[in-house]
Amino acid sequence: MNEMSKVNEAGNRPQPKAGVLDIAAYVPGKSKGSHGKTVHKLSSNETPLGTSATVSPAVDHVIRNLELYPDGAATELREAIGDIYGLNPDRIICGAGSDEVLSMLANAYLAPGDEAIYSEHGFLVYDIAIRAAGATPVVAPETDLSTDVDAILERVTDRTKMVFIANPNNPTGTYLPYEEVKRLHESLPAHVLLVLDAAYGEYVRRNDYESGIELAATSENVFMTRTFSKIYGLANLRVGWGFGPAHIIDALNRIRGPFNMSGVAIAAGIAAVRDRDFVAKSVDHNEKWLPWVTNELEEIGLKVTPSVGNFVLVHFPDQDGQRAKDADAYLLERGCVLRMVGNYGLPNAIRMTIGSEEANRTVVAHLRDFLTNR
Ligand SMILES: *Cc1c(COP(=O)(O)O)cnc(C)c1O
Repeated sequence: MNEMSKVNEAGNRPQPKAGVLDIAAYVPGKSKGSHGKTVHKLSSNETPLGTSATVSPAVDHVIRNLELYPDGAATELREAIGDIYGLNPDRIICGAGSDEVLSMLANAYLAPGDEAIYSEHGFLVYDIAIRAAGATPVVAPETDLSTDVDAILERVTDRTKMVFIANPNNPTGTYLPYEEVKRLHESLPAHVLLVLDAAYGEYVRRNDYESGIELAATSENVFMTRTFSKIYGLANLRVGWGFGPAHIIDALNRIRGPFNMSGVAIAAGIAAVRDRDFVAKSVDHNEKWLPWVTNELEEIGLKVTPSVGNFVLVHFPDQDGQRAKDADAYLLERGCVLRMVGNYGLPNAIRMTIGSEEANRTVVAHLRDFLTNR
């Protein structure tokens, strides 16, 4: 024991850079009910339909050659995405989930002293990415649980470098019509990067919605992110992508880990994106059960925010969040795992992913019992 180890107090050991210890670590959805059993996991917006049957054979081939490095540029996956979405593969970048793409964007464009704006109930990964880059998050209030373009514009300063919008947003399920996204874009200074996170874009069936492809294709300061974690059912493998101007792709490729995606993830993504029947089936399932769940929950007396995603935000009539907590515990005891969203500033609400028919019916039945018996 020397003297040095004795004075190993907080001040005399490696320190994370400023801001890191202010980050509230992301809290994922629970996967287990209160007795350790899960009957229905509806806490992370995962699809109840699994993934495309073409994924497993595609992955098998890679698994036989695990000693080989993957193609770091994910060329074939970018080509497959380009094919399906009608995009130039040179303007696509892939990442370990869209979370990685969001982090790359923040790391490439934000420095200490810079500000980045996201909205009141916006996806919390933005806050983490902004702070991890050493920049300052600025939160714009929402109106009726929807992104408020004017509130964002009011918060733009000389220091603003980025604006993050989830469209549709998680956990609210609301969306910004294309006209509003365009108005936001037109009013932002040209040097501000507008990030449109369309993680649920494939689910949306609204004529006035546009995921961001059009603006990202035609402007120098708009970037769209997408994921294979939701409708494609590949959350476990971490596959995401982004599309935008060539100069942004170039910047991101300079900081991207050289082999940021595994070959297994790449192969799975290629197979999944090409199976359009699977995607169509997933949309049909959601189109049937999203309105069903919404109506049933409203009928038993709960308020549900109209959603265009594969989940709903359910509100409990209470001020201090106790009723929502009790409902969550009641469901957990019965193996139904939903998501509390107090950390999103919504203590009286629970988010429910649209699940299988059985899951949806079970949760609705339990909530009906909960409301009548206590
Ligand atoms: C689920 C989700 C993502 C996707 O994250 P991955 O890292 O791709 O799994 C991105 N944005 C929002 C708003 C989400 O809800």
